[in-house]
Amino acid sequence: HLGIDVFAPDGQDVFAPYDGIVVSAVDRAQRLDYGGVVVLAHKTAHGDDFYTLYGHLDPHTIATLTPGQTINKGAKFAALGSVEVNGGWQPHLHFQLGLSLIVHGDDWPGVADPDDVIFYAALYPNPAILLGLDEVQMTYEIASTETAQTDRAERFGANLKLSYKAPVMLLRGWRNYLYDQYGRTYLDAYNNVPHVGHAHPRLREIAARQLGLINTNTRYLHPAQAEFAAALQKRLPQDLTHCYFVTSGSEANELALRLARAHTGARGMIVQEHGYHGHTTGTIDISPYKFNGPGGGGAPDWVQTVEVADPYRGRYGYDDLAAGPKYAAPVDDALMALCDRGHQLCAFIAESYPSVGGQIEPPAGYLAAVYEKIRAAGGVCIADEVQTGLGRLGDAYWGFATQNATPDMVILGKPVGNGHPIGVVVTTAAIAESFANGIEFFSTFGGTTLACLIGAEVLQIVDDEGLQENASKTGAQLLAGFRKLQSSHDLIGDVRGRGLFLGVELVSDRKTKSPATALAGYVANRMRKERILIGTDGPFDNVLKIRPPLTIGVEDCELLLDRLDQVLCEAELINQDR
Ligand code: PMP
Repeated sequence: HLGIDVFAPDGQDVFAPYDGIVVSAVDRAQRLDYGGVVVLAHKTAHGDDFYTLYGHLDPHTIATLTPGQTINKGAKFAALGSVEVNGGWQPHLHFQLGLSLIVHGDDWPGVADPDDVIFYAALYPNPAILLGLDEVQMTYEIASTETAQTDRAERFGANLKLSYKAPVMLLRGWRNYLYDQYGRTYLDAYNNVPHVGHAHPRLREIAARQLGLINTNTRYLHPAQAEFAAALQKRLPQDLTHCYFVTSGSEANELALRLARAHTGARGMIVQEHGYHGHTTGTIDISPYKFNGPGGGGAPDWVQTVEVADPYRGRYGYDDLAAGPKYAAPVDDALMALCDRGHQLCAFIAESYPSVGGQIEPPAGYLAAVYEKIRAAGGVCIADEVQTGLGRLGDAYWGFATQNATPDMVILGKPVGNGHPIGVVVTTAAIAESFANGIEFFSTFGGTTLACLIGAEVLQIVDDEGLQENASKTGAQLLAGFRKLQSSHDLIGDVRGRGLFLGVELVSDRKTKSPATALAGYVANRMRKERILIGTDGPFDNVLKIRPPLTIGVEDCELLLDRLDQVLCEAELINQDR
């Protein structure tokens, strides 16, 4: 913003701060323009020219002003316009100082792209000085990305990663939009934590109110605890009756391990390749994405991996209607392998739709077939719904529901707090009973008064705002759009997902499916330059990950598809060069 806005009721008189001559007085009637606007020319005591601009005036009050007319200091020469005549704004005066008319004549830009701030600030300096205001106070201090990055490098370990080659500094959010320190808008098509949108007013309201009352722990009674648990149970299969509140997905999975061990008395775990369940010691042991990834220590002997039911890269393709149960068959081998190493089965844990594994939608019948085998072997079935739960998938509220499978434990994290740290384990009465074995269960911050209120409110907002339906609608729009892009871009090997859990897999050759990892990175970074945030994931890091807040709108999706089309064209040119 290149001027100073002074808010006052419409009809407020406007007086000249200096002797001046009218350069122009016109009506720029277009919506979001100035309405009535006057430019005056002045001279400093040294004889240098400078100019002032007054926008959002009532055009009737300036109709008689003519270029060349003299206006004396202190003379009333205009009045503020109402929303009907001032370009459509809350009544205010836009006051701007200019040092030259050479560049823009009398049609000055009132705002400019932050990338061009040095140029514009030279032409249109801060007018605080003219108003006798403290220029320092009236200057918005822009936080430096470079300084923040250097500070970070000095104070944090190098494995604390930043997204994008040119990292973004985000100071505000609203619904599915993010704003950097310059006020530039980004379309958030990546973050699943702000499930009901960034800065939701209902959550802000609850937090502000509750922090002024009390925020304490589960050793004391508060109705909010049972209300949050009841709100979850209402939305879950009826046997899942007992809740444990913690503070993150990792902590919830860690606790799930303890529950499963207490219930089965066994230790053997079956997990999916590339799966991720958390950053704690226990959850890294069950996360191949970590233990098989860079710096990982390999699988512990009580953990056995099974392949992901991936119809694009796996053994059974999209055309195999019996692929689901076929992908479940290796569970038998995994059971044998655990047995050979002297371990009885404790549990199977999987993300209902693998996310870090590459945004994969398992074929029909997969999870139900796996669960059947696990239960037959005496194990517990754990559904990590951190990424897939709460309506993200559109036509289903839970990932396991799309698979006709019912787990014994459901793990919730990220979105259930919309950014407030909440993790939940929900399980059956029988497992809860096994766990009540003498050791007290207590998590200081798990299930605080505020966490319970926020969790229940998030669930209610999803319903009240029809966000599951929106995930269905915009998800279908994106999926169709990506498929259309697939028909014109060879780089797209596969398009998949459901609702707002979507993946676009890039390959440099459709026949060999050779992963276009570098190009996927290029695309995500170029989209970031277009101010659209998406990510990459999958074992080869070549899957574009689209997973926005559920508030994303039809126009946002159109914008994303349009820009992706353009960026893919560039990526293809690069691919040809190789
Ligand atoms: N499970 C899944 C499926 C996840 O995606 C994540 C986080 N990416 C976690 C567990 C761990 O959650 P948190 O980072 O909140 O500990």
